[in-house]
Amino acid sequence: MPDEKGYFGEYGGQVIPPDLVAIMNDINRAYQEISKTPSFKDELNDLYTHYVGRPSPIFYAKRLTEKLGGAKIFLKREDLNHTGAHKINHCLGEALLARHMGKTKVIAETGAGQHGVALATACALVGIDCEIHMGEVDIEKERPNVTKMKILGCTLVPVSRGTRTLKDAVDSAFEEYLKDPVNFIYAIGSVVGPHPFPMMVRDFQSIIGKEARAQFLEEQGRLPDVITACVGGGSNAIGLFTAFLDDELVDIVGVEPAGRGLETGEHAATMSKGVKGALHGFECYNLQDQSGEPLPVYSIASGLDYPGVGPQHCLLKDLGRAKYVAIDDEECIDAFMTLSRVEGIIPALESAHAVAYAMKIAKKMSSNETILVNLSGRGDKDAYFIADKLGL
Ligand SMILES: *Cc1c(COP(=O)(O)O)cnc(C)c1O
Repeated sequence: MPDEKGYFGEYGGQVIPPDLVAIMNDINRAYQEISKTPSFKDELNDLYTHYVGRPSPIFYAKRLTEKLGGAKIFLKREDLNHTGAHKINHCLGEALLARHMGKTKVIAETGAGQHGVALATACALVGIDCEIHMGEVDIEKERPNVTKMKILGCTLVPVSRGTRTLKDAVDSAFEEYLKDPVNFIYAIGSVVGPHPFPMMVRDFQSIIGKEARAQFLEEQGRLPDVITACVGGGSNAIGLFTAFLDDELVDIVGVEPAGRGLETGEHAATMSKGVKGALHGFECYNLQDQSGEPLPVYSIASGLDYPGVGPQHCLLKDLGRAKYVAIDDEECIDAFMTLSRVEGIIPALESAHAVAYAMKIAKKMSSNETILVNLSGRGDKDAYFIADKLGL
């Protein structure tokens, strides 16, 4: 998976103008070639070990388990990675690929700044120019990440058009990319966009599941009964899920943001509420209005508010191999505070969605059963927001 045209069943592909198809196919060819060479694989693996700090451990959340009284809960600690989340896994891959292809500049957009910081980090390390487009409203809101990007030496382009948020940053970054797509590369931040990005980003992230499956077998002598991860675009989730797809006894669950409630319309639950259609160059379930325009989406976790979702997730849903559920803001905050106070681990609000789901089902399972949660990132970035909200 995917097929030659980048389809996972009826999802994915390249819904873009023909000249861009040619460029995406060049990237695909280069990726297929370069990613199999020992020099690329060794360099990436060496960075995973000595730079990111892989393998990330699996931690048994004993006190959380005892508090809930049911299935044992384990956490795959992607929050311990350098830069604090799973995004560095694919940003390093993309930056190395860019250098091996002789690209002169890596371009991307960022919303909350998480993708921007991870990419600026990878580009600083690899020694390649990096240009990040960000809406002025987001720049105002996300001071710590903006500052980090500046320190890391990337060129930050403030976007002043339209709503001055993520959507406009995407347009602005894409226009810059189109000025010289032969020498520039657009680094997509999740398993979305036209082929080959959903495949490439999945491959780079699949280190999570490869490690987790081997670690769990080694430490517990068995596989987990349930594995779960939060789903924005779907990269940390597919990174965990891929190694377990053939293990039929392992239940796979993706957790989407229900925001203020599925019935309110203020959510980003693409799988639960979306329809099939094209978005940002690929086919997927997405949230759109009557005329096919993407709907505004909302989640307390800004990393999850995307109106589409990775094509492989759409296929896994249709096949019934994975199930997708939604967790709302309130449940997310509860899991955020509980994990902080019971285990001393402050999770990212994104990751807290998956923790909340595990907390919900653990109670109903037996103490012989196990749940493995992908803790995609740490919550430093969310600490002040939550403290203000709860009046701490
Ligand atoms: C960006 C982000 C996500 C959402 O992205 P996916 O592609 O769905 O993984 C989840 N968790 C954290 C910590 C993030 O920074």
